[in-house]
Amino acid sequence: MNKPLAVGITGGIGAGKTLAATIFKLLGIPVYNADNRAKQLMHTLLKPKIIALFGAQSFTNGQLNRNYLAKKVFNHPNELARLNNLVHPAVANDYKQWHAQQTQAPYTLKEAALLVENSSYKQLDKLIVVTAPNTLRVKRIKERDPFRTTQEIEKIMANQMPEAEKKALADFTIKNNEQELLIPQVLAIDIELKKSIA
Ligand code: ATP
Repeated sequence: MNKPLAVGITGGIGAGKTLAATIFKLLGIPVYNADNRAKQLMHTLLKPKIIALFGAQSFTNGQLNRNYLAKKVFNHPNELARLNNLVHPAVANDYKQWHAQQTQAPYTLKEAALLVENSSYKQLDKLIVVTAPNTLRVKRIKERDPFRTTQEIEKIMANQMPEAEKKALADFTIKNNEQELLIPQVLAIDIELKKSIA
């Protein structure tokens, strides 16, 4: 049975991880979106545990009450750690199971905003970092999430690990600066990854 290479794709807010991952998906590469999967797990497997920790108000009409939870953990490092200690191992385990099932793929992609910060990239075989200038990232997020202010976006960016530190650990970098084309960069990485397992 084939065990595909485990590749991670990461980058700061608005860098273009999801867009780049979508191109890999078009090439037939299975993509695991860690943030989306975390949300799904919080609505299923983790729901009773979240209620036990943070109360029934954590859900309204069956949906995660993100504002309530955000208030519970915002500026409360212990509470945030308790939530992370629930979610992170569940996602890690879910990803491991998912990856093991992708027996037909040469490699899979794990797309996550946090791969370097939490050291989870160390469990992967290769790392791709998507980069983009800060001004473009702010512009993209404002267009995608009109409810966010520039200040809010800049604060999120300031709290994320600097791009240069992630790039230093990357096996591949995708420059998503709207000058270099994305598709040829993805195709080149796809060729290299397939070569590395041939
Ligand atoms: P987040 O961590 O916030 O989820 P992300 O790194 O996954 O961000 P995307 O969601 O891929 O980023 O991109 C952010 C927004 O910018 C999206 O609306 C996307 O369509 C747009 N975008 C990304 N790259 C480009 C590009 N090269 N040209 C035009 N729009 C782009």
